[in-house]
Amino acid sequence: MRCEWQRESRARCRTARGRRIGRCLLETHLGALPGMSIRVEEIQCKSALTGSGGRFRLNPYCGCEHSCAYCYATYLTRWRGQSAPWGSWVQVKTNIARVLECELARRRVAHVMLSTACDAYQPVEEHYRLTRRCLSVLAIASQKLDGPSVFVLTKSDRVLGDLDVLRMFPEGSLRVAFSVTTHRDDVAAILEPGAPSPSARIAAATALVAEGICVELFINPVLPYITERDMPALLDAARVAGCGVGGFDRTNYLDRQPGARLRAVYRHLGPEAQERLEQARNERRSEVPTSWSPGGY
Ligand code: SF4
Repeated sequence: MRCEWQRESRARCRTARGRRIGRCLLETHLGALPGMSIRVEEIQCKSALTGSGGRFRLNPYCGCEHSCAYCYATYLTRWRGQSAPWGSWVQVKTNIARVLECELARRRVAHVMLSTACDAYQPVEEHYRLTRRCLSVLAIASQKLDGPSVFVLTKSDRVLGDLDVLRMFPEGSLRVAFSVTTHRDDVAAILEPGAPSPSARIAAATALVAEGICVELFINPVLPYITERDMPALLDAARVAGCGVGGFDRTNYLDRQPGARLRAVYRHLGPEAQERLEQARNERRSEVPTSWSPGGY
């Protein structure tokens, strides 16, 4: 059964533009939020969930203002037809909550992860509230028998503003994880210039734990020299916050040439850091699993 809004969107696609723009653009609006220098593009999506086998990903936005120097998703700049650098544009899927509602009604969804092509709590969320609306839809769905479980991975303490929505999830159906690469705010400021500081994330984790939400620190990516040195402090921060460590991930950034921004960070940290980066890339060719979980830590 096709939802009413989808028929309407298809009609608008044909009459308003005469042709389809990209995979999911029906119409666009270019603008900038007050006080922000990023380009915000409002789009309409045809589908909300991506994935298969009951496990799906949900990205209310495409593009990310957090602008991490190691980001794995920068390839999307070309895929989404953007000319500006990663971190300076965001596509906003304004209709995603309604699309999600329709999809949940017609397919079996066991697990949903937010997000993989953005941070669902990047600054633009303060204006559009799409993550909040999607989580509200998911919370209602999760209350049904066989409803989905949800995993929210973010670098932002903005998630605290949605505590009322997080509380709607039945016990055991929601996990919130804060990803961290270092506990040092000054280092994070050059690595993840658009994201809230690690201390703000750890404070948010502590606050959510106090509210009974299932919270983890996700140490990701494990950067040579930086995260390697900070690992004891990060594990200690998780212990003090009262949350678990969801996992570690070296992702695939060691397999490719580090981008200019990541190299600049390592130059800033000095020759020892640069040397360790190269050594880790060489080690990567012969050993070490991509990711692993500490299990019951
Ligand atoms: S928060 Fe995630 S998606 Fe956003 S720039 Fe950083 S690594 Fe990329």
